[in-house]
Amino acid sequence: MQEKGTISIHTENIFPIIKKFLYSDNEIFLRELVSNAVDASQKIKRLASLGQYQGDLGDLRVEVAFDKEKKTITISDKGLGMTAEEIKKYINQIAFSGATEFVEKFKDAKDANEIIGKFGLGFYSAFMVAHQVDIHSLSYQEGAEPAKWTCDGSTSFEISEGDRTDRGTDIVLHINEESEEFLDQYKLQEILDKYCRFLPIPIVFGTKSESVEDGKDEEGNPKYKSVEVDNVINTTAPIWTKSPSDLQDEDYLKFYKELYPMSEDPLFWIHLNVDYPFNLTGVLYFPKVKNEFEMQRNKIKLFSRQVFITDEVKDIVPEFLMLLHGVIDSPDIPLNVSRSFLQADGNVKKINSYITKKVADKLGELFRKDRPSFESKWGDIGLFVKYGMISEEKFYDKGKDFALLTNTKGEHFTMTEYQEKLQANQVDKDGQTIVLYTNDAEKQDAFIQSANKKDYDVLVLDSPIDSHFINTLEQKLEKTSLKRVDADVADKLIKKDDGMANVLTEDQSKAVKEIFEKAIGNQAYTVEVEGLNPEELPVTITMEEFMRRMKDMAQTGGGM
Ligand code: ADP
Ligand code: MG
Repeated sequence: MQEKGTISIHTENIFPIIKKFLYSDNEIFLRELVSNAVDASQKIKRLASLGQYQGDLGDLRVEVAFDKEKKTITISDKGLGMTAEEIKKYINQIAFSGATEFVEKFKDAKDANEIIGKFGLGFYSAFMVAHQVDIHSLSYQEGAEPAKWTCDGSTSFEISEGDRTDRGTDIVLHINEESEEFLDQYKLQEILDKYCRFLPIPIVFGTKSESVEDGKDEEGNPKYKSVEVDNVINTTAPIWTKSPSDLQDEDYLKFYKELYPMSEDPLFWIHLNVDYPFNLTGVLYFPKVKNEFEMQRNKIKLFSRQVFITDEVKDIVPEFLMLLHGVIDSPDIPLNVSRSFLQADGNVKKINSYITKKVADKLGELFRKDRPSFESKWGDIGLFVKYGMISEEKFYDKGKDFALLTNTKGEHFTMTEYQEKLQANQVDKDGQTIVLYTNDAEKQDAFIQSANKKDYDVLVLDSPIDSHFINTLEQKLEKTSLKRVDADVADKLIKKDDGMANVLTEDQSKAVKEIFEKAIGNQAYTVEVEGLNPEELPVTITMEEFMRRMKDMAQTGGGM
């Protein structure tokens, strides 16, 4: 026997699930409703530009207000509005998105993708905080009647003639008892600041007082008075939506200060702008950090069509760039229906490699365009570059052209330049290039000097990240070994071409060595008489690294 059928969904069961579990955070009801209001405003603008609406657009703004007595929060827009039929179609049918329909209908029109909505679920987030929701709406369509819709969160609703007289929609939330915290100026301001700060339509939340110039006093000094002005909470055209050619350095710095008021100016920035194969804009800043411990992760803000989504950009941004600051906006970042999480998929990978490539290209460009300035910033940039080269194969391949190696004399070399330099004196008989480095130039000074004397160059690789970087270099550089200058290594270095004759005979050297050894009277030290150049360390007294550590430990009481 075989039977076919349709699975039936009972809305009365689904509803509580949407209300309780779809959204992780109650506060996003405001993000969803303001986004809908912005969408409605963008749509009327679009209809007007397509000649499908002849009326006056007026001042398109979204207003958010609350009434503590009545326990309501109202979101009002002057968008395209809805007829009773449309309310039934778009609101009553859960997961039927009018936004998708609109985009589908006008997808060939310019800017067709400015619409935020997508899933047809956002509106219902209102029921997380409200026991009743009313819609008052008047459609832009000629001869449309105002409509009023009321729903108490059950599956039944009432729709009747409304009383709105101008185009647009009011959404009135009757806040439930558990959510009264939202009936608060600061709370609402905070949520609006978080999610709506860069939305493309002005969002007004009450008024604020501002001090303005009011004529002059008798002495000609300006007088001020306090006036109430609209409290507009957003910047409608944040810099990442603009073209880099329209922006000055000051614009980028100003935006940085706006995002991170407490931070020092950034080192430089990268304006991201791509529309194929995915759409992504943004500005990434390299912050000034002194060391690894000061670095803060998750300072990049992720937006989707100017709506704030999250600070959690893991996967979108490669691990080593999580230390950057700034914003990324992409409607193509796959969000789950609650729009608060990412869904890992192919696009995320593509975006990730795009960002890696873009950052590498920018660094390469800075290096080629102005090497002295790049060198002067290397102390700050080096950390990111090394971290990237260690952790990302692709980044290593690009980074090797601009990563700098710094020697004890403060000279900078690219990796190729350095290898060429070493050809002269630091290749052993098996053809291995010997790279010497110090991780503590002060303590290892004697060895550095003795190496330099033999014409060996010594790199400074002394930060915590350098120990990993050294490993990477060892794996990547062919026929090259990296050695730390210590007694052992410094001793064994051979000078290719002495150039200068030893001023002592072999016997004299031996005699001097004995005199020193006797005077020191300690087997732990090694005395080396070179006597090549009396002005520079004719005798070196060194201690084996192991012995030195033992001694250090003994001096510090043996503790580790
Ligand atoms: P989405 O925004 O993902 O489409 P929502 O559940 O948030 O889904 O909204 C459903 C639909 O209701 C919207 O697509 C839109 O057609 C309509 N709608 C909601 N709010 C408004 C509004 N303020 N003005 C006009 N239409 C609206
Ligand atoms: Mg929506």
